[in-house]
Amino acid sequence: MTTHRKWNYEGKAAFVTGAANGIGQTTALAFAQEGADVVVVDLSEDGAKATARMIEEQGGRALAVRCDVSNPEDVQVALAAAIEKFGRLDFAFNNAGIEQPLAYTADVSVETFERNLRVNLGGVFYCMKYQIPLMLKNGGGAIVNTSSGAGVVGIRGQGAYCAAKHGVIGLTKSAALEYAKDGVRINAVCPGIIDTPMIGRFTQGTEENRKRMIAQEPIGRLGRPEEIANTVLWLCSDVAGFAIGHAVVVDGGQTAGL
Ligand code: NAD
Repeated sequence: MTTHRKWNYEGKAAFVTGAANGIGQTTALAFAQEGADVVVVDLSEDGAKATARMIEEQGGRALAVRCDVSNPEDVQVALAAAIEKFGRLDFAFNNAGIEQPLAYTADVSVETFERNLRVNLGGVFYCMKYQIPLMLKNGGGAIVNTSSGAGVVGIRGQGAYCAAKHGVIGLTKSAALEYAKDGVRINAVCPGIIDTPMIGRFTQGTEENRKRMIAQEPIGRLGRPEEIANTVLWLCSDVAGFAIGHAVVVDGGQTAGL
C-alpha cells in the first residue's frame, strides 16, 4: 500500500459516501492507496463491507458503515462511528446519489421529485452540517461534494436530478465562503458520463444505449471512475489550497460546447 503514492494521506481520515459502487468505491480505494483511513459509507451494508474488505486486503484501514444519507440521524451516527474509530475527520467526499428515471417535468411524480432532492441534495447538506464542526475541531479539512454535468446545464427528462445537482453547487459555494477562513475548503466535482453501475442501469445494459451515451462525449468514450477519484484527491490536497467554492467539471468536454 506504500508504492507510488502521490499525495500521501497517512494519518488522515476520509469519509466517503456511496462507497459501495462506482465513483465512491474507486475514490475510497484511492484514499486508502494514499495511506488514509477510510470510512466507507453506503445504503448497502454488504456493499460497504465489501469495499472495506478490499481496502483491508490491500493493507489499509477501513470502517464500513450502513447509512442512508437522506436521514440526518443516520449521518450523525455514521460520523460518530468514524470519530470513535479513527479519532478525526480530514476529508469528506459527499457522493452518494440516485438517478432519475427519464420523464418530462409534468410526468415526474411528486414522490420521485422529493426523493431525488432528499438524497442528492439533502444528503449533501446533512453530511456537511455534521462534518464541518468535526473539521473545525481538527483545525481544518477538505470537503468535495458530487454534483454533475446536470448541475451546470438543464437536461430534458432530468428536471429533478438537475434541480438537486444545481442545488449541490449553490450549497457548496455558500458553505465554501462561510468556512474559507477556518481552513475548511469546500468544492464540488461535476462528472460527465462515467462508466459505473448507475450508467449500466441508465443504459439498461444495451450496446445501442451505451453508444448513444458515448456519442454525447466529445472525447469519444465514457469517463472512468478513477478520473473522478483523481480530481477528488487533488481537491483534498494542499496543492489545491487556493481552490475554494469551485464546481470542477470533469466531463470529456461534454458541456464545453454548450
Ligand atoms: P452508483 O449507483 O454506481 O453508486 C452510487 C452508490 O450510492 C451506491 O453504492 C448506492 O448504494 C449509494 N447510495 C444511493 N443512495 C444512497 C443513500 N440514500 N445513502 C447512502 N448511499 C446511497 O453511482 P455512481 O455513478 O458511482 O454515482 C456517484 C455519484 O456521482 C452520484 O451522486 C451521481 O449522481 C453522480 N454522478 C454520476 C455520473 C455518472 O455518469 N456515473 C455522472 C454525474 C454525476
